[in-house]
Amino acid sequence: LTHESQTENMGRESSSLHIFFFPFLSHGHMIPMVDMAKLFASRGVKSTIVTTPVNASLISKAIGKSKTHNNNNIHIETIEFPCSKAGLPEGCENGDLIPSPDKFPVFFIATRLLQEPFEKLLLQHKPDCVIADVFFPWATDSASMVGIPRLVFNGTGFFSMCALECMRLYEPQKNVSSDSEPFVIPNLPGEIKMLRTQLPPASITGETNPLTEFFKEANESEGKCYGVVVNSFYELESVYADYSRNGLGRKAWHIGPLSLCNKDTEEKSQRGKDASIDENECLKWLDTKKPNSVVYICFGSIANFEDSQLREIALGLEASGQDFIWVVKNNKKEGEAKEEWLLEGFEKRMEGTGLIIRGWAPQVLILGHQAIGAFVTHCGWAPQVLILEHQAIGAFVTHCGWNSTLEAVTAGVPMVTWPIAAEQFYNEKLVTEILKIGVPIGAKKWLRLIGDTVKWEAVEKGVKKIMVGEEAEEMRNKAKVLSQLAKSAVEKGGSSYSDLDALIVELASHKH
Ligand code: UDP
Repeated sequence: LTHESQTENMGRESSSLHIFFFPFLSHGHMIPMVDMAKLFASRGVKSTIVTTPVNASLISKAIGKSKTHNNNNIHIETIEFPCSKAGLPEGCENGDLIPSPDKFPVFFIATRLLQEPFEKLLLQHKPDCVIADVFFPWATDSASMVGIPRLVFNGTGFFSMCALECMRLYEPQKNVSSDSEPFVIPNLPGEIKMLRTQLPPASITGETNPLTEFFKEANESEGKCYGVVVNSFYELESVYADYSRNGLGRKAWHIGPLSLCNKDTEEKSQRGKDASIDENECLKWLDTKKPNSVVYICFGSIANFEDSQLREIALGLEASGQDFIWVVKNNKKEGEAKEEWLLEGFEKRMEGTGLIIRGWAPQVLILGHQAIGAFVTHCGWAPQVLILEHQAIGAFVTHCGWNSTLEAVTAGVPMVTWPIAAEQFYNEKLVTEILKIGVPIGAKKWLRLIGDTVKWEAVEKGVKKIMVGEEAEEMRNKAKVLSQLAKSAVEKGGSSYSDLDALIVELASHKH
C-alpha cells in the first residue's frame, strides 16, 4: 500500500473505534493518560476518559482545546468514588489529597470500589477497548465481561518495566547479606547494580499486608492483559523495548512522549492542576536569564519533604551559586502557616536569583473540598513542561518520576537524580548509567513520600556538577540529541507515530 492509501485506511479504521481511558487517581497517572486520550482523539478515535467528579473538573480544562480541534470526539464520564465508605474524607479523590501517610494504603485499596460503577459504564457504552491503569487490576475481568481487550498503562518506561519484572522473577535482593552489598539485576541487559535499600522494604522483609497484595495483584495482571501501552519512544531505550517484547514476552506499543501532544502554551500549562504561578510571569522571569543557566527543582505531585529537608535544599541551592526555580510542597497541620524551613533572609538574598513556586492558597483543594482532614496540602504546582522547554533551563533536579524524567529528555535537559520511592531508583539508573544525561544526588533509601535524607553539601555538589564544566556540557549535548529524537518519534513516520498506527489497526481488526 502507498503511504496515502495506508493513511486513508487508518482514517476509516480509527473513526469507528471507541476507547475507554481509565487513569489511576493521581496526577502522575492522570496527566499522561489524558494526553494519551488526546492523542488517540487526534487520530480519529472516539476517546472517553473515565474518572471521578473531583478529577473530572481538572481533566475537562486539560481537554478543552482538544475537544474543538478533534471534532468533539473526546469525552469524560464520571463515576462516584465513595470516599466516606472507605474511611477517607469526602472529596479525597486524588493521591495528592490523601490527608496523612497512614491513609495511603486505604486510598489505594478503596479504588476497588470503582469496579462496580465502571462496569455499569462499560455495559452502557460498549466501547471497543479499555486502556486502564495498572492499579486497576480488576479491569481485565471487567473488559472480558463485555468481550473487549484490556490494555494496561503502567506509567513507566521500558527500562523500569524490564527491571521490575526481572526483580520479580529472580529476587536477587534475597542473596545479599548487608545493605551496602550491591547486587546485579539478573538477566537485565546492562549489568545494573542496585542496593537492597533502594527497594520497597517489604521486598526484603517479605512482609505481606493489604497494600503489598494490592501491588502484587497489579503486577500479575499486567502479564495477563492484552498488552501494554508505553509512554516512551523506541530510540530512547531500544534495548529494553526489544527485551520487554522478545525476552519477557510482553506485547507492548510505544507511543510517547505523550506530553508532545500539547502544542501551545495554554495546553502545556493546563496539564494537571492550576499552576500556583501565572505562567507568563514565570516565562518572563526566565526570559531575563541566559540559556542553560537556571536549575529547575521539583519532586512531582506526591513527594512531600519535611521542613529539615527543605532547609538542606535551600542551603545547597544558595551554596551552588546557580539561578533556580524551585517548586516547594510542604504539608502543614491545619492553621499552621509558618514556613519552618525558610532560612532567615533566604528569599531576600535570593531575589533575582531564585524563583520559589509554592501554593499557599487553598487552590489545590479543588471543587470546594476545603476541609479534608487534619492536613492541608500546600502544594506548589508549576507549569512544568513550559518551564523545562525554556532555553534558560540548564538542568532539572528531579525525583525521577517517569513523567518528569521523560519531560526532561523531551526538552533536552540533563538531570540531578533524587529518587524517593516507587520505581524511581530504576529510572535513575537509566538516566545516569545508560543514557548518561544525569548525576545522582546520592539518595540510597526507598522511603515513600519523603525519601532518603540528603544533605546540603550533596545538593550543592550535584547542582554544580550538572551545570558547570566539561562533563556537564557533554551530558547537556547528549540530552539535546535525545530531545530531537523524541520529537521525530511522534512525527508522521516516526517510531511512536507508526506504533500508534499499528495499535489502532490491530484494535480495529479485533473489533471486526
Ligand atoms: N507536574 C507539574 N507541575 C508541578 C509538579 C508536577 O506540571 O509542579 C507534572 C509533571 O509535569 C508530570 C507530573 O506532574 O507530568 C508528575 O509525574 P511524575 O511521574 O514525574 O511524578 P509523580 O507525581 O507521579 O510522583
